Amino acid sequence: MVTIRLTNSKTRKKEDFVPIDPENVRMYVCGPTVYDRAHLGNARPVVVFDMLFRLLRHVYGEGHVTYVRNFTDVDDKINAEALRRQKAGAPGTLEELIHERTEETIAWYHADMDALGALRPTVEPRATEFIAQMIAMTEGLIASGHAYAVEGHVLFRVRSYKDYGKLSGRSVDDMIAGARVEVAPFKEDPMDFVLWKPSSGEEPGWDSPWGRGRPGWHIECSAMAQELLGESFDIHGGGLDLQFPHHENEIAQSACAHPHGDFAHYWLHNEMLQVEGKKMSKSLGNFFTVRDLLDQGIPGEVIRFVLLMTHYRSPMDWTAEKAAEAQKTLMKWRKFVTGVKPSEADHRVIAALSDDLNTAGAIAVLHELAKSGDAPSLAASAHLLGLLTNKLGDWPTQDDFSEEVRALIKRLAQAWANYRDQKDWQRADQIRDALLGLGVRVTQKTAQHWEVRYENPDMISLAEREERVAALARLEALQ
Ligand code: AMP
Ligand code: ZN
Repeated sequence: MVTIRLTNSKTRKKEDFVPIDPENVRMYVCGPTVYDRAHLGNARPVVVFDMLFRLLRHVYGEGHVTYVRNFTDVDDKINAEALRRQKAGAPGTLEELIHERTEETIAWYHADMDALGALRPTVEPRATEFIAQMIAMTEGLIASGHAYAVEGHVLFRVRSYKDYGKLSGRSVDDMIAGARVEVAPFKEDPMDFVLWKPSSGEEPGWDSPWGRGRPGWHIECSAMAQELLGESFDIHGGGLDLQFPHHENEIAQSACAHPHGDFAHYWLHNEMLQVEGKKMSKSLGNFFTVRDLLDQGIPGEVIRFVLLMTHYRSPMDWTAEKAAEAQKTLMKWRKFVTGVKPSEADHRVIAALSDDLNTAGAIAVLHELAKSGDAPSLAASAHLLGLLTNKLGDWPTQDDFSEEVRALIKRLAQAWANYRDQKDWQRADQIRDALLGLGVRVTQKTAQHWEVRYENPDMISLAEREERVAALARLEALQ
């Protein structure tokens, strides 16, 4: 069996990956807070951990990997948005508006990440479905002296966990000096963080031993990981920006609540997608969404390819040049593998991916396979990276021509045949070329018979194709 090596943030070393149970390899990745469209930075961990999920499935078998990625659907930003809508006159209770907002955002997220060729995780828990487990975990932490309740809040006693700060390599005192910790009069120590907080009438809340309230963000992941993957599991992933405080806090909570478990064995962090040297983020306002790019006609597969061109532990920028290069390469490869039966993924591709997800190295091998003319292996190897798959992302396929467009194509093919009959070659050729632009070839079989064949079209985006169909309709109107 191939040995996968991963850089473990916990030890800061590249280590052999040894799963607890190779029959069920378990991975947890922090998912999005669902209050708005995902920006391109949010897509980076999705594609990175999708790549790891695919590699684990390849090595351990499809049915032997459990991938959990949560939806944080309780958050002040969600409340604020729902409240804004209510104040703007939207009908419904605040709870209904919150629900509406999170469901809408989750549907967007699915559509956008599907377009990037990311497989859906095995389980996608919503935090609000695990409130009982969060309350139970919080109660346990109070009972064991790791947390305390005060004024409707429950706080984690950071100094009660001696290994706090180990993951990110900071001491508690350094953290106090450097961090923007919230100082509240009821905290024993400024470092202590919230496990539970009270909710006002305008905020979503659940009954608890400490009154009506809602969980803190960090306890969500600890409770869901424990419930769905157990006290010890293999991999925990997320963006580097989550390492402190979110992941430190997750570790502290889980280690203290389950002293016999050891939570995640391997911690993986992706570096940031940047804009001019700064992390892309909502708060800085320097972001664009995945949907923005898709709407500009950039195929999801191109976005995926660009994200995979850089190693996950290096910062990266999105540039139009990279997108153009990726699009050119994919167009070439897609033509090259059309109609080809995939063979086996090249061992060098598997070796590169197994070496701490060296996706850039894997792509270099794909280029070599294309150059050497090995289309079957190129197809199989690209599939392992979630590229050149049948699900084309936003590349159009002939199968998605609507009935209406198919009828239009037929009518134009008939017009083409008529012009040829009349020896009006110019008009006939004009129609032929317009059809070819959509990957449709018309050929004359006998004097009366013509045939429409759907071929591999130029690799154009959906937006471009729509334009070409519209041009076809204009051409028909001219006849
Ligand atoms: P959030 O909804 O902000 O908690 O982010 C969801 C995921 O996206 C987390 O794993 C973050 O670490 C990750 N993330 C946020 N911004 C970026 C960025 N600019 N580059 C890479 N990952 C990011
Ligand atoms: Zn988390």
